[in-house]
Amino acid sequence: MKEISIESFDNSKLAFATKTSWQLKKAYYLFKIVNNNGIARIATFSANLALKLHLPIKGIIRSTVFEHFCGGETIDDCKSTSDIMGRFKVGSILDYSVEGKDSEEAFDQVMAETLRTIENAKGNSSVPYCVFKPTGLGSARLMEKIQLKIELTEQEELLFTRLKERYNTLCNAAFKGNVRLLIDAEDSWYQDTIDELVYLLMEKYNKERAIVFNTYQMYRWQSLENIKKAHKQATERGYILGAKLVRGAYMEAERQRALDHEYKDPICIDKAATDKSYNDGLSYIIEHIEHIELFNGSHNEYSNFYLTQLMLNAGLSRDDPRVFFVQLYGMSDNITYVLADAGYNAAKYLPYGPVKYVMPYLIRRAEENTSVEGQSSRELVMLAKEMKRRKNQD
Ligand SMILES: Cc1cc2nc3c(=O)[nH]c(=O)nc-3n(C[C@H](O)[C@H](O)[C@H](O)COP(=O)(O)OP(=O)(O)OC[C@H]3O[C@@H](n4cnc5c(N)ncnc54)[C@H](O)[C@@H]3O)c2cc1C
Repeated sequence: MKEISIESFDNSKLAFATKTSWQLKKAYYLFKIVNNNGIARIATFSANLALKLHLPIKGIIRSTVFEHFCGGETIDDCKSTSDIMGRFKVGSILDYSVEGKDSEEAFDQVMAETLRTIENAKGNSSVPYCVFKPTGLGSARLMEKIQLKIELTEQEELLFTRLKERYNTLCNAAFKGNVRLLIDAEDSWYQDTIDELVYLLMEKYNKERAIVFNTYQMYRWQSLENIKKAHKQATERGYILGAKLVRGAYMEAERQRALDHEYKDPICIDKAATDKSYNDGLSYIIEHIEHIELFNGSHNEYSNFYLTQLMLNAGLSRDDPRVFFVQLYGMSDNITYVLADAGYNAAKYLPYGPVKYVMPYLIRRAEENTSVEGQSSRELVMLAKEMKRRKNQD
């Protein structure tokens, strides 16, 4: 069996085995633009404005950034991408990435679409999880009010009941279809409301295996403690904890809000502290794998390598069904494909939805990939390496 080391993630041939040379070139220039902060900002601002003004730029977005980071506009559109990944033993997690719609009608529509993804995943081993975002199913303001323990009006009580029903409908469908369901994490100021709700659903549906997964953003210094508490409660109440670990995508907004509202910053002091928190989270879960299932959602090469070592030391097989390594579609193929090839459970979030409504998701990807965050340079190096390798072969 192939040994995994950090250097294994330098294998550009394997990383881009599914990509044509034309796709590589396009991706290279896309990351070049994103890597330049100034140009990236102007491009995202202009794209947003043009869409709002109904200017005909959807085609350009679709054939560039959308095509790179998304599977298509519908579940059916995603099938060809999903099939290609499946051939390399990489699973697809269809993520309906419509954001920013805040009405009961929109929440019902997201629920209906998520039910379709669950239906699509049933008995389909190349679709290992389904997923939804909390703000897709209910109002952030309502969840925040509950977290603050502010008394709800009668109308709000009703809305909260409907929100809980949506969660239950999805978890119940996932349970009946034997499909794992991830609940993403967003802002800390309503996360407690989600946690409470999700733990009740785990108690209901995770008796035999983890169906429902909560997300822990390890950039919050409290998260490791939260995992430990959740683990204790799960063992006391006799269910399996489903834990999705990510570092967290909303750091600036979190810090700004803490500053504005004069409360302690919920984010770790620096990147090194977040990295430690993340890796400690992985260690804790592998130590308690009898009661916890792990979804490792990270592009960090060291964290992915570290998890392979934790599994090795704990005597777990590489394809232990309780552990998955997952990256976002369009990013870090060098991690996903190398791990899948080495026999680990690997998958990609595959976002989809109408171009206009996935813009917030695309903008987050652009921001995350600027040269400040550093990820884009890594993508550029890998793409350049593979382009050169193919050229030398010709
Ligand atoms: C499959 C998948 C699912 C995801 N789901 C979610 C989700 O539900 N909710 C969510 O919030 N995010 C989610 N993300 C995004 C994730 O939280 C990260 O933003 C992203 O993956 C970058 O972190 P990293 O571990 O890949 O790697 P790295 O590039 O090593 O880490 C970057 C991250 O480190 C942290 N960081 C950077 N600078 C500092 C600093 N100065 N101080 C403290 N911390 C710092 C931030 O979290 C930043 O995003 C998901 C990512 C993946 C791959």
